[in-house]
Amino acid sequence: LAASLDLLADQPCITTDGKRVRLWVNTGLMADVVRSLERGAEGVGLYRTEVPFLMRERFPSEEEQRAIYREQLEAFSPNPVTMRTLDIGGDKALSYFPIEEENPFLGWRGIRVTLDHPEIFLGQVRAMMKASLGLNNLRILLPMISGINEFEAARKLVLRAHDELREEGYDIALPPLGVMIEVPSAVYQARALALRADFLSVGTNDLTQYLLAVDRNNSRVAGLYNAFHPAVLAALKAIVDAAHAEGTEVGICGELAGDPGGALLLVAMGYDVLSMNATNLPRIKATLRAANCSELTDLLDGVLQMECGESIYHKVQLVLQQLG
Ligand code: PEP
Ligand code: MG
Repeated sequence: LAASLDLLADQPCITTDGKRVRLWVNTGLMADVVRSLERGAEGVGLYRTEVPFLMRERFPSEEEQRAIYREQLEAFSPNPVTMRTLDIGGDKALSYFPIEEENPFLGWRGIRVTLDHPEIFLGQVRAMMKASLGLNNLRILLPMISGINEFEAARKLVLRAHDELREEGYDIALPPLGVMIEVPSAVYQARALALRADFLSVGTNDLTQYLLAVDRNNSRVAGLYNAFHPAVLAALKAIVDAAHAEGTEVGICGELAGDPGGALLLVAMGYDVLSMNATNLPRIKATLRAANCSELTDLLDGVLQMECGESIYHKVQLVLQQLG
């Protein structure tokens, strides 16, 4: 099976009735890059910049970061690489930057940390933009945005870094700036965020955890963690509708995009990009190439009427079995 899935690397991801779906990858390590290219990834929907930070004993300098980011951008050029600014806090702790809190997932995390430390944010986006010189395939993504003020504050810093670099003589285009939708408040502000941002990307891992109040890493409550919960699906539908009402691209970069049943529903909802671990990419491509969009629309319409996450999950599994 693995061999036949790998044969799909050069084939487009297109449903039986002709809908083209963009399948991108999530990366962090250089090893992910090699696997992604082998499997025919068409872009990077989420490069987790905290990964190189987690592997060091101190903050990498701007120049060290530039070299790391350059490798990613070069490997995928001319395809886009979406680099997320540092998302530490929660369960991702840097040994050299300890954060001690009672509720880390509700505390100092993601954009909250870097807006309080603009020097970290500026150094990072400067390094990203310098790395994109001559390639112009960089997109910047902001984690844990809960409202428009955080977006505006981060955008100001990105513009400032870009102005500085132009003054220093770098001829670099301003990269598209996107927002992660992973905090419930951002679901209700999706339209206001879509109006301001160049693209949205939904983090279903955190969004599921926060909507259901279920720690994504706690095995005791793992049975309650279900991205097929009707509340999660209703949120996902509301986000794609809000983004498209503003004509803004919207993708998914949480694990649900790499789940075959999840991918069927997300394509039916109209998501523009599905970004996943390279491991899952061949299977998702094979599933979508066997699917028919109008049948998926019927499936989605039915599912959105249902009131129980477990039943929804089982219904989608049945459809997957029929696809083979
Ligand atoms: C998510 O929350 O779905 C996401 C993609 O980000 P991370 O898993 O890095 O928190
Ligand atoms: Mg997240």
